[in-house]
Amino acid sequence: MSESLNIEKIFASKVFTLDKMKDRLPKNVYEEIERVNKEGGELSFDSAEVIANAMKEWAVENNATHYTHWFQPLTGITAEKHDSFVTHPKSDGKMLLSFSAKELVKGEADGSSFPSGGLRSTFEARGYTVWDTTSPAFIKEGATGAILCIPTAFCSYTGEALDKKTPLLRSLEAINREALRIVRLFGNTEAKKISVSVGAEQEYFLIDRENYLKRDDLVFTGRTLFGASAPKGQEMDDHYYGVIQERIGSFMSDLNVELWKLGVTAKTQHNEVAPAQHELAPIYEEANIATDHNQIVMETMKRVAFNHGLTCLLHEKPFAGVNGSGKHNNWSLVTDNGVNLLDPGTTPNANIQFLLVLSCIIKAVDTHADILRQSASDPGNDHRLGASEAPPAIMSIFLGDQLDDVVRQLVETGEASTSIDGGVLQTGVSTLIDFEKDGTDRNRTSPFAFTGNKFEFRSVGASDSIASPNTILNAIVAEAFCEAADRLEKATDFDIEVHDIIKEYLTKHQRIIFNGDGYSEEWVKEAERRGLPNLKTMVDAVDTLTTEKAVKLFEKFGIFTRSELESREEILYDSYSKTINIEAQTMLDMISRKFLPAGIRYSKELADTINVLENIGADFSVQQKVLEKVQEKLIAMDNAAERLKGLEDEASKMADAKEKAFFYKDNIVKAMEELRQPTDELEVLVDKKLWPVPTYGDMLFEV
Ligand code: ADP
Ligand code: MG
Repeated sequence: MSESLNIEKIFASKVFTLDKMKDRLPKNVYEEIERVNKEGGELSFDSAEVIANAMKEWAVENNATHYTHWFQPLTGITAEKHDSFVTHPKSDGKMLLSFSAKELVKGEADGSSFPSGGLRSTFEARGYTVWDTTSPAFIKEGATGAILCIPTAFCSYTGEALDKKTPLLRSLEAINREALRIVRLFGNTEAKKISVSVGAEQEYFLIDRENYLKRDDLVFTGRTLFGASAPKGQEMDDHYYGVIQERIGSFMSDLNVELWKLGVTAKTQHNEVAPAQHELAPIYEEANIATDHNQIVMETMKRVAFNHGLTCLLHEKPFAGVNGSGKHNNWSLVTDNGVNLLDPGTTPNANIQFLLVLSCIIKAVDTHADILRQSASDPGNDHRLGASEAPPAIMSIFLGDQLDDVVRQLVETGEASTSIDGGVLQTGVSTLIDFEKDGTDRNRTSPFAFTGNKFEFRSVGASDSIASPNTILNAIVAEAFCEAADRLEKATDFDIEVHDIIKEYLTKHQRIIFNGDGYSEEWVKEAERRGLPNLKTMVDAVDTLTTEKAVKLFEKFGIFTRSELESREEILYDSYSKTINIEAQTMLDMISRKFLPAGIRYSKELADTINVLENIGADFSVQQKVLEKVQEKLIAMDNAAERLKGLEDEASKMADAKEKAFFYKDNIVKAMEELRQPTDELEVLVDKKLWPVPTYGDMLFEV
């Protein structure tokens, strides 16, 4: 890097922040938008007009030519349609750029091309994008130039949510309302708002783009559908936190700058467990913005990788046999006067508000473990959850020794009089400073772990939006808060009632607490004994969204209507089937046009050699042995391909979305595995020069 980097100067330079608005807006308009940002409520149309103009001027100064309503349809990625600021030329031919409040506040997206799960039929395909004033506009720079992006919610003509943001915003309002009731009961009269803080750690793979383009499976599905393991995997533990290679370092350095410009607080970067795997973590921020920023992180990773001749893979399991990628969703609740409701303080046993909040979260996760698990499901994550590299599909809570002990005391005696402290870490080396340890150790195998002053939801898949997991967390905790507040507000003796609630919730829901090894077989059995749901795949989890329990929860807090839930269910089944179908079709295509021909070519080479050797009376036993093995694999591949084709035909005739998704999961996924196996075995038999695609070794170790 030639110029020196001034992070303070570049940070958020491409974001229309409140700070920039303060400089550019009349005082009253600025105060209005600031208030709406802090406290919620609606912005007047007149103010929107002033803001639109200021936004356009700022954008144009930053070379923007177009604007877009940036939204998050149910595809899980973001969508945008660019409109330039160009207007009808004046009579003298002069161009006046414009951007009105109408254009800022509301856009129309021809909704029929986005998944809607039957919420709108195509003849009523009107969908609206609506400005989300709580997430700042930003300028995205790329080959298309500079584009002003306005974060928006996406709804149907009749107001049903067609995106991931709308329910998230609704859930944030719900938890704000209910959490405020809790803190009020404990005498906090100052707090006006309680926000959800979220920090999403993002794992990803980087491979050489040339290799990527040679693999149809990566191009079409984001993961390798074939590939024998490389001689080396992750067994040496030498990649995790390893020294960052120059080419990757240069990618990370550019990525940070691009993210900082967009106001994303990229903070931590390191190599992850699998070869070619890395992680980036930003500093936590308000959940809605964290969600938008996580989308920006994923998009920017892809763009910067491209510029470095790399491809960024965000799929949950791009390579078999090495760890896949997830996203740790760190979640906490904080008042606008700076109190983190999940901070236990040094003596959690004496912190009654904390214990109530904790009991409510425990109750919420136990009551709604099924939808929480659902919120972290996508087809890719089926390969990760429960595969001893990521948490199991069974939801449980890790509290750590300190809180576990407090909970035990409360359940056993109704009182918690002591709490274990961390003690001092002594290394036995006089020059190393001894320090106070944390009260809890870590447990990497837990899906939902308490980590000091936040919960870390570790099940989320790397490619998934964090909107759903946070919507669900907010909703279930809001419900538990609401029930507790209903009782406490009516209580004649507050102290006794709060004590009773804590004891009752902990006693009733302690089965969800598990501090042991979540990867073990014993836990699966133990969880079953405890009656905890074990929804092994995405498809198994879909209908948790429409149980009476779930519908009641979501309708009570206005987060989803029943028809929105039903439509989401439909979309999930449908998108699962489509994803697996694309994978199956890609496999069949690669088999018939790449791998069978490679095997056939090699067997011809072997047969020719055998002929020649036989003619001169030489030994051809090795060649024959290899040829026999190759033939055996080719036959197995052909048979497996025929079987898969037959099942694909069957699936294509199925109309019911749920039935079809289960058919894909139960039959097609299995047939795909049966096709992969002989192909991977063939790969290690065939002359590498003849193998038509880059191998795992090429992709994972040659960046
Ligand atoms: P670790 O996972 O090792 O605890 P960090 O402390 O760096 O790592 O935290 C990981 C992520 O959690 C970061 O994105 C961080 O900003 C976020 N985080 C830290 N504190 C909180 C909090 N109170 N609420 C939400 N997220 C938080
Ligand atoms: Mg972490």
